[in-house]
Amino acid sequence: MSSVDVLVAGGGGFIGGHLVADLLRQGLSVRSVDVKPLDEWYQVHGEAQNVQADLSLLDHALEQTDGARQVYLLAADMGGMGFIENNKALCMLTVLTSTHLLQGAQRAGAERVFFSSSACVYAADKQTDAHITALREADAYPAMPEDGYGWEKLFTERMCRHFSEDFGLTTRVARYHNVYGPNGTWTGGREKAPAAVCRKIATAVITGDHSIDIWGDGEQTRSFMYIDDCVSGSQMIMNGESAVPVNLGSSELVSINQLYSIVEDIAGIKCTRNYQLDAPQGVRGRNSDNTQILETYGWEPSISLADGLAKTYAWVYDEVKRSLG
Ligand code: NAD
Repeated sequence: MSSVDVLVAGGGGFIGGHLVADLLRQGLSVRSVDVKPLDEWYQVHGEAQNVQADLSLLDHALEQTDGARQVYLLAADMGGMGFIENNKALCMLTVLTSTHLLQGAQRAGAERVFFSSSACVYAADKQTDAHITALREADAYPAMPEDGYGWEKLFTERMCRHFSEDFGLTTRVARYHNVYGPNGTWTGGREKAPAAVCRKIATAVITGDHSIDIWGDGEQTRSFMYIDDCVSGSQMIMNGESAVPVNLGSSELVSINQLYSIVEDIAGIKCTRNYQLDAPQGVRGRNSDNTQILETYGWEPSISLADGLAKTYAWVYDEVKRSLG
């Protein structure tokens, strides 16, 4: 393969699509690879090399990493709570993709690899209260992550560390906390809370039926990071000097009920809420402790939820309108 500055594995996905756009804006050459056919990618950037390949297969991973100076390992079989609670084996099979990409990067002599880990690596027993203390990086151990998805992430974090220690491959790991924004999954079962909330409220506006279902009692808490902060933070961590996993998330904690209220205000309606107490809702409370990222980089995600949701709602609204004809 020809040489490129950056390989983005999972470039047809939500975060990958935005990352490729930003790398291209900086004048870097980019190879963007995804298992999905090109017409299903969230964004296709003409200036990148866009390749459909299954990176869980060693041959494909070796071929696509060849000639890449930096590798962003974003490819994963994943989705929101509804998906990861019901597809644990699929989530864990991503370990093939992670493993083969690390092997490829090592053989290709890549300068750096970035791995997108997740807040799902944190021990579940530290997240049983909606008013939790924010999660610090050390809270990942003793290990009891989210079953399936979280175990794969924690395993790959350690593989990154050992590829570094044993093979001299420079690796960087960020633990993303709920990323949202336009050009992502908003329907179909893999969408996450912010996109699902925008879809339900946009549908209510368009159809006039203001009755909406909410998973759980709505009092579970989370923080949500807007995509632009995610893209900047990922590159900062990739190019930085710290090898230890670091939280990359917003520390603006909200309940799911508050999330609905913010989007209702943006849309200018009030909905009737039906709470579905049997639906998947994940841990009770989760927030990002940003002490480490602030100490290491003097930076943390800062785009407010109200600003990010306004942009996300506008995009989801158009998608819903198109889909309803
Ligand atoms: P996404 O599902 O939109 O993107 C992942 C992409 O990887 C998809 O397009 C998928 O087709 C691709 N992929 C899966 N298996 C592949 C394979 N075998 N070969 C090639 N491509 C493959 O998800 P996203 O939100 O953009 O997430 C990107 C990364 O960030 C993932 O690793 C995810 O686990 C991690 N992460 C995301 C969030 C979030 O809130 N979005 C939170 C924590 C961690």
